[in-house]
Formats: sequence, structure tokens, C-alpha cells
Amino acid sequence: MSATGQTIIRAGRLIDGVGSEPRSDVALRLEGGRIAAVERWRENLAEGVTVHDYSTQTVLPGLVDAHCHLTLLGAGFAYEEIGFADEFMAVAAVHNAQVMLRSGVTTLRDNGARHGIMFAVREAMNRGLVLGPRMLIAGRPVTPSGGHFHWCGGVADGAEEIRRQIRRLVHEGADHIKIMASGGGTAGTNPGLPSYDATELRSAVEAAHHYGRLTTAHCRATGAIANAVEAGLDCIEHAEFNEPGDLIEHVAEGPGHRAGWDDDVARRLADSGMFASLTLPGSGYVAFRELCERRDREGPDALSSEEHAAIDRGRAMMEGRADHVRRFLALGMLTRLVISSDAGPFDIEFGKLYQGLEVGVAGGMSPMQAIQACTRVSAETCGVLDHVGTLEPGKQADLLIVGANPLDDVRNLREAVAVFKAGELVVRDEGGSR
Ligand SMILES: [Zn+2]
Repeated sequence: MSATGQTIIRAGRLIDGVGSEPRSDVALRLEGGRIAAVERWRENLAEGVTVHDYSTQTVLPGLVDAHCHLTLLGAGFAYEEIGFADEFMAVAAVHNAQVMLRSGVTTLRDNGARHGIMFAVREAMNRGLVLGPRMLIAGRPVTPSGGHFHWCGGVADGAEEIRRQIRRLVHEGADHIKIMASGGGTAGTNPGLPSYDATELRSAVEAAHHYGRLTTAHCRATGAIANAVEAGLDCIEHAEFNEPGDLIEHVAEGPGHRAGWDDDVARRLADSGMFASLTLPGSGYVAFRELCERRDREGPDALSSEEHAAIDRGRAMMEGRADHVRRFLALGMLTRLVISSDAGPFDIEFGKLYQGLEVGVAGGMSPMQAIQACTRVSAETCGVLDHVGTLEPGKQADLLIVGANPLDDVRNLREAVAVFKAGELVVRDEGGSR
């Protein structure tokens, strides 16, 4: 901090997240960790002003990832294979939060972890013991007996137990409530089947809103989306249209994803005003990309017939997800579509949110719209747009700086040159590879 307390960020290109055209050669004037002004760059600065010069680079808002699970490893484990102690998961969460920060995520929402682990991790970060992004924590997801993520300890059956679980979560420090409205990747649950009825979900919304907490529901089943719309949730996660009879496997070569769709339920979702947090690209993407790269490098003959089949499945899965983006856009949901990572489960790695943006663009979003889906729109979904998500006077100076223009290719977001949180340089690229 300089003597005058003023810092200037010089941006060769500024993407403010508000949606306006990118501006060139801009100065962001920071004061006390916030943006005081966004103005044209001038050479003659007052004495003692600290300048960070990114005149050949792009400055954009720090990313807001509305869905991740920091206590998991993103290393290919099924939930049933995770035998780690809570203490280990807390350490893993700190590590993963820092991977996220280095990738440009300055705000994240953890959508479910075992017991009270994430409350402790957030406490350590808020006290400055360890560095990390701003954190919004759900704690234990609310789920029925034997339901998705039941191993976190948030089991509640029926409206009364749901209300009690939410009171406990709020008392322990939950920033928002995550409820499992359908089955998922937890063994013994069915991602095509709703796990709560609309009355139960409504009791969750009422209890959470009573305490001023937002709600979001895991919805991989068509019936779960319909219930969530009826119950008035604030947001749904995944927004997949699976039916009870669908066979959905989670395997390393990519899940057997069926790109289902229900026009009537999708229209009700679009009319409801709810946000949809699309967890793109989902599990299987890393393995799919690696196989494609190996085929391009070594030639098609180097791959076995199983591997070629896995590429075909992976491509179908990606096209299915991009098609959903296209359909949601056609229903007018652009300003309520969020792109989130869901990092942690299975092989979904931390720090790769740009991969979701690739799918968004494949589904018809412009790069600018895809960037907004994980900055301004996701901040609004998480209830924090008043202080993060865009670069405007009064907002926190949470910034991501990248070298090449992400409006040319969203993959240019994959390497951060620098990251600022509340005006403080927390990540600087040392030129090494990550
Ligand atoms: Zn999740």
C-alpha cells in the first residue's frame, strides 16, 4: 500500500462483467480494497500511487464458482471409496481452495461437505490463518435417509426434520441451504428419481428464508425440477432431465449420460425466475479430452476399440450438455444461467472452470455471456452481487488478469497472470507452468 493509500490497476483490456463492450487502456483506481473509480488511463499520476501495469493483458472480475465440494479430491474416487477422516478433508479443502484461487476464482460456494468441516475451514480463512477465496458454505446438504450425500450427516425426512436440520445448519454458520431434491452419484440413489416432494422442499425454503438464507437444490431428475419450481427454490443445480428408468453410470471413461429434456418442465423453470446452475462439463470430461489428445498425437490406430467407443460417448455427452444450454437460451434463461464447476466429485478437477465455459460457448453463448455466467450472474445467484461479480465503483477489487483475450477463446482463461482479492495481489504468475 502506498503512502496515499491509492493503487491503480492499468488494464490493456477491461471486461467489467456488466456486459458492456470491453474497454481499452483503462485505470481501475482502488481504495481500501474496493474499486473507487474506473477511468481512462493517464500517464501523469500523483506521487506515491502504486501502479500494477497490465497494459498488454485483460482484466476481468474474479470468477464466482457457485458449486464446488472442496473436501473432495477430484481424483476419480466414487463417494463410496472416500474413506478419509474429517481432519484430512479439512486439509484437502484448504489445498483445493487455493488451487481455485490460483485459477482466478475469488468467490466460491461449497455445496456440501461432511459434518462441520467447511465451517472450520471458512473460519481459518476469515481469520487469515490461510489464504483462500471468499467462501459461502452450505455445510451438510439436507438429504433423506440413504439419499445423495447422506454420508455428510445432514439426513432429514419429512418437513419437520428438514426444518430442524436447517435450524441447526444456520446455527452452525450455513450461508445458504443445499437440499438434495433427487438422487445422484451416491450408490443406492437414483438420479432419475425425486427424493423429496414439493411440500418437503417448500418447508426447506420457508425455514431457510426465515433466516435470510438462499436455497439451492440438487436436481438431476425431471420430477425434482418440477418439485423445486413448485416449492419456490432460489436456484437448482445440474438441471438434468433424467427419468427413473434411465441407466446412469459414473465411470472413468465418462458417465452414461442421457441428454433428456422435458419441454413442459423446462418452460415452468424458465417462467419461475429461478436460477439454474449448470455444472458443466461434468465428470468424464478430463478422460474424454485426454483420449482425444492422445488420438490426435499418436493417430487413431494407437487407440483400442474401447477407447474409440469412449470418445464417441464423451462427444455425445458434451453435445448433449451443449444442447441443453441451447434450449435454455431459447427459453430466455440467459440472465439466470450460471456456469459452475461442481469440482470435487469423481474426476472433476479444481481450477478448471474454463472447461464449463467451453461447453457454454458450444451451446451458443458468446464468450462474453459465458464469462458473465460465472461472474455477474453467479454472484447474483449466490446473493453477493452487491459486492463482487462485476468491476464497478464500490465493489470489492477482486480481479483476474489473463494474457490472451478470453473473448477470442474462453480457453484463454486457463492461465491466470495475476489474481487480486480485495485489492491485494494474492496470486502472481512466476512464469512457471502449473
Ligand atoms: Zn455437487
